[in-house]
Amino acid sequence: MKFKIIKSSSKNLSRIGQIETTHGIINTPAFIVGGTKATVKALTIDQIKNLNAQAILANTYHLMLQPGAKIIQHADGLANFMGYNGPTFTDSGGFQIFSLGLAYKQNLKDMTNSRNSTQKLQYSKGLINITDEGVEFKSHLDGSKYFMSPEKSMEIQHQIGADIHMAFDQLTTPLADQSIIEEACKRTHQWALRSLTKHQKLNQQHQKNQQPEQALYGIIQGGRIKDLRIKSAKIINQLDFDGFGIGGIFEPTEINQVLNWIIPRLTIDKPRHLLGMGAQPLDLFLGIENGIDTFDCVAPTRQARNGALYTSNGRINIKNQQFKTNYLPIDKNCYCYTCINHSQSYLHHLFKANELLAYTLASIHNEYFIVNLVDKIRLSILNESYQEFKKNFLINYYQESDFINKFI
Ligand SMILES: [Zn+2]
Repeated sequence: MKFKIIKSSSKNLSRIGQIETTHGIINTPAFIVGGTKATVKALTIDQIKNLNAQAILANTYHLMLQPGAKIIQHADGLANFMGYNGPTFTDSGGFQIFSLGLAYKQNLKDMTNSRNSTQKLQYSKGLINITDEGVEFKSHLDGSKYFMSPEKSMEIQHQIGADIHMAFDQLTTPLADQSIIEEACKRTHQWALRSLTKHQKLNQQHQKNQQPEQALYGIIQGGRIKDLRIKSAKIINQLDFDGFGIGGIFEPTEINQVLNWIIPRLTIDKPRHLLGMGAQPLDLFLGIENGIDTFDCVAPTRQARNGALYTSNGRINIKNQQFKTNYLPIDKNCYCYTCINHSQSYLHHLFKANELLAYTLASIHNEYFIVNLVDKIRLSILNESYQEFKKNFLINYYQESDFINKFI
């Protein structure tokens, strides 16, 4: 993997760059679409390409349970298995192990809002058991037991064979006690080194077998604690990773502050990925102007399946009665397949009738909206019109001026 910066803004930390992988180039900043189980839900590969998505991020935890990493390895890796000839990422599986373990059968939102007591309760139920060696956990599919360590995560990610992998880290809720976050952070740093050592060994084997090398990002954690975030950034920056993943940010209101602590401590010549953020436009603007190059988030397709659709004037729920007789497209400024060919009324009908096409058309629109928003931001950085574009977009989107005034 190679990364080059084409232009850096003089006004903020944003930059335009290119990540070159074995399976193609990603022009950054870029939104990487979520392909959790080796599928972007409800979309075919052609539909993904037509909405201008540049890369897909799949999930190690889900793929190791089903179909199993070896099945994907035998298909020559994730891209080939999916029938997709573009760049792919995998995350380490850590996030899902901890979130599904801690927040078993609960919404992840409960976890981010939950206090330490919930965490202790879940630990005591034995759903996950964390030691310095790794994590024992139970599959959310059938309750069978698994063990994951940094080495194991690397082995599985190399079998899955995406272009870019993430080091195995320990996630905590940002509301946990400081001592718990400190312990998780310390472990994340030890695991980072073990992930990197194993990754380098596996890459040597690829070289011997004349297979392409795979890239690894180190993960920066530390919750909302300044000293821990700075320490984490410094430690991960010293290791020989190909890029950085920043984890543990859950709210857009935290982005400015947390990235302010981290980004100045990172070398400028490696790409930076903000893990799991991009559910709403503000995440993307704040991430990019603070020096983030790529994002991933499953929210656009998840929201689409609930009928929640992005428009230039904010999010709407297409299932609401007001859309029943509206024959305009979802967003008059959107040029996705759905907006070009279909009306709000038709989408409303498909959702009301529980027709499967509703998921596809809504997902095309939401992914296109977010992917293309990042493309427009990239263009505005290139044209030196970022501030103007940001202000116009956010005022139209959020409308509640009091909230958004803090960010423009
Ligand atoms: Zn559209």
